[in-house]
Amino acid sequence: MNDISVKGKNAIMQAIDERDTELQELSLKIHSNPETSFQEYKAMNWLVEPLEKSGFSIERGLANLETSFRATWEGQKGGPTIAILAEYDALAGLGHGCGHNIIGTAAVGAALALKDAHPNLKGKIIVIGTPAEEEGGGKILMVEHGIFDDVDVAMMCHPHGKTMVLRGGLACVDVTFKFYGKAAHASASPEKGISALDAVIHTFVAVNSLRQFFKDDVRIHGIITKGGEATNVVPAYCEAEFLLRAENVESLHVVREKVCAAARYSTEAVGARLEISEGLIYAERNNNKALASIFKKNLEELGELVSDPPEKGGIGSSDIGNVGQVTATIHPYIKITNTAATHTPEFVEAAASEYGMSGLNKAAKALAMTAYDICLNPAKLQEIRNEFDEWKKNKDAKLSKIIRKGI
Ligand SMILES: [Zn+2]
Ligand SMILES: [Zn+2]
Repeated sequence: MNDISVKGKNAIMQAIDERDTELQELSLKIHSNPETSFQEYKAMNWLVEPLEKSGFSIERGLANLETSFRATWEGQKGGPTIAILAEYDALAGLGHGCGHNIIGTAAVGAALALKDAHPNLKGKIIVIGTPAEEEGGGKILMVEHGIFDDVDVAMMCHPHGKTMVLRGGLACVDVTFKFYGKAAHASASPEKGISALDAVIHTFVAVNSLRQFFKDDVRIHGIITKGGEATNVVPAYCEAEFLLRAENVESLHVVREKVCAAARYSTEAVGARLEISEGLIYAERNNNKALASIFKKNLEELGELVSDPPEKGGIGSSDIGNVGQVTATIHPYIKITNTAATHTPEFVEAAASEYGMSGLNKAAKALAMTAYDICLNPAKLQEIRNEFDEWKKNKDAKLSKIIRKGI
């Protein structure tokens, strides 16, 4: 690192430390007022407030999502457009069990510090407030509305039990099956009934028998959401929901076809009728390695030990995958607990703990330092963009081959 870079980063760290109390308070306020997907009005307003005060221009309600926002600081012309993503939704019935109070606040802290420390920065810094990560796929809708089209680099930082920069994520879709049978007295005239529940049970058995023919990384988890009303009535209507996951969107389509066929034939077998509805498709994660290596160096400069991601398994899905399909993206993790797993009451606690708050401080610093590195070094930006363009070219070639094969 040269002198300019060292001084510049020190100024960023100092700016974040100066705002440390303010950022902690903001994060804890969001934590103690958990709002679920698309209802994050308070969190959105609280995150926007300091950005507006600092001179960022604010837009709300992007992509027809009332709780989304974009805060822009134009900076000096001729530099990259860097998006720092904020999540701020909580889990129903649990609260901030995924620590999104830290993600949102770290994004805001990083952007504020860049402007505080480097008012003449050559680059445009935007904070994109992306609602409904847990349920609803806010980023997917925002990608579809072109919100990331003019973004060179997108990044965020997620709290976790381990600090990692290259953890993957599976492509994912939820599928709802609605089974229509015919009610009848279960004892007096069972021959007049068609059991929607039998269609459900056959579907689960058929899906289970498919499992052995899927690749290792395929995940299928289903629940019965409606299983009949009374034991003495043949169930006329039942419902089941499945979450399907695979290595990438192409493999996911194959899994989807097979699971839907299993449900169709199972329904037909008992004479019932089936309706299928599907949610948004979450794309697999596409970590930009050149960008990740800059982020990793900055984490290490902050004294953070960066662990390797698990070689197999150990991953879920997130709508950040869809952002990674349209621009160079990373989704690193910062350690805030030694024991708690995400989506548990223990993690809710960790997200408001002292460890959590020091994770917030480091996440904000690493995000801002990485943005600064890119603004300062056009060659690094070029490397990041080249990697993304190359990936896109290969992906498009692969997709056109699949289309020709007729999958
Ligand atoms: Zn989560
Ligand atoms: Zn999360």
